[in-house]
Amino acid sequence: MIRAFVVGHPIAHSRSPLIHGHWLAELGIKGSYERVDVAPAHFAAFLTGLREHGFSGGNVTIPHKEAAFALADRLTPRARRIGAVNTLFFDETGQLTGDNTDAPGFIAHLDQSLGLDWPRRGDGSAVVLGAGGAARAIVVGLLDRGVASVHVANRTLTRATSLVALDSERVSALSWDGLDTVLPKAGLIVNTTSLGMAGHPSLDLDLRLLGADAVVADIVYVPLETPLIAAARTRGLATVDGLGMLLHQAVPGFERWFGRKPEVTPALRTRILSDLVPA
Ligand code: NAP
Repeated sequence: MIRAFVVGHPIAHSRSPLIHGHWLAELGIKGSYERVDVAPAHFAAFLTGLREHGFSGGNVTIPHKEAAFALADRLTPRARRIGAVNTLFFDETGQLTGDNTDAPGFIAHLDQSLGLDWPRRGDGSAVVLGAGGAARAIVVGLLDRGVASVHVANRTLTRATSLVALDSERVSALSWDGLDTVLPKAGLIVNTTSLGMAGHPSLDLDLRLLGADAVVADIVYVPLETPLIAAARTRGLATVDGLGMLLHQAVPGFERWFGRKPEVTPALRTRILSDLVPA
């Protein structure tokens, strides 16, 4: 039986076991995907013992993503650029390899929701709100997908500036006050801050500045319809919610560990939604 895990501290809240459990059952694979709670002091020992415990790999979440980056035997190019690892697997030579699937997960969700032409909307630019760990993955994903330019706006400007080094010709940093200059031409606006999350203040953005073909995406998925998404819908704009990124980022890991590529289907979405919003 193939075993995979999600490791974090705490870990009880993770929806990943539901996602992978759904695919294991759907594809009839004899395997397991287990939650493992490991405190930071024991994380290195946990990685060393993976083979011994029969694990073929797994997911890494808060607070271990940077430690996994430092401890993996090797890194995929995108994990190296993002600076954090959320997926571990053994490569063909047995080396523990760290990947980051948030970038392709976000992009796959946009492609599935909007069709493949979305990078041509507006003047081809994207505005990323926020400059934390998720923003870094999303900027890498947007650059790799061929978006013409990415404007990163963050409350703390220095954090946005640190993302410019990813591609100084295509990435620029600005403060919240500078948004008025970039919003009117942008084809995509993505909220990667925690604003709009249940229990947090909502994101206050003047959507009247956006062009009619702009897409508004939010990676917050609790609630699924954030105030930003609701306001964009009211304005008649195309919107993309945060649940799809969570589902799509799980695909590459499952394929590595269990040898079959799973699909993000409406049935999976409904299953996870019913857990997020119990009837
Ligand atoms: P993080 O590294 O802590 O970054 C948080 C970001 O939010 C920073 O840019 C921070 O700005 C900004 N922020 C926080 N409070 C703010 C406020 N009051 N006003 C303005 N900006 C504020 O967190 P993260 O890991 O990037 O995650 C961010 C969000 O994405 C979370 O809600 C998380 O649940 C969600 N997420 C979703 C997925 C998915 O699969 N859908 C995946 C990963 C993360 P400063 O730099 O100025 O502090």
